[in-house]
Amino acid sequence: MPMERAPAAAPGSGKFDAARLIRDHGTLEGHLDAGALPRVADLLMDGEAPIDWRITGTSDAVGRPALAIDLAGELPLECQRCLGVYRWPLSQRTEVLVARDDTEMARLDNDSELEVVLATGPLEPIELVEDELVLAIPFAPRHPECPPQA
Ligand SMILES: [Zn+2]
Repeated sequence: MPMERAPAAAPGSGKFDAARLIRDHGTLEGHLDAGALPRVADLLMDGEAPIDWRITGTSDAVGRPALAIDLAGELPLECQRCLGVYRWPLSQRTEVLVARDDTEMARLDNDSELEVVLATGPLEPIELVEDELVLAIPFAPRHPECPPQA
């Protein structure tokens, strides 16, 4: 459940209009269990996986329309050294550029280091969050101190 409804959110739908969110400098936010996301669940051990997310309409350093995706939470990953559960703390902000069509998508992809999201129609915030989580989760997680001190 989003904690507040931003004006860009279509009523009765989780989807939002990226162009409008960017123009309004709007914010969408919510809380979810990452274990409920199919592409993330495969990467998790058993346990709570609470994630707070926020998507803000913004622009990048040269003024191109962008979304800032903030994620904060904790995910149960398998430590690749001891094979125990490592509760990995996540706190990050990622900016993605928004393309209105395939041509713009290709051009932005060429011109920028940033990720580019294609928004030909309303976007599903949870899909953006899932994409970012899949990219953020370390390939070979390890306890910083392993075995962990009790
Ligand atoms: Zn370990």
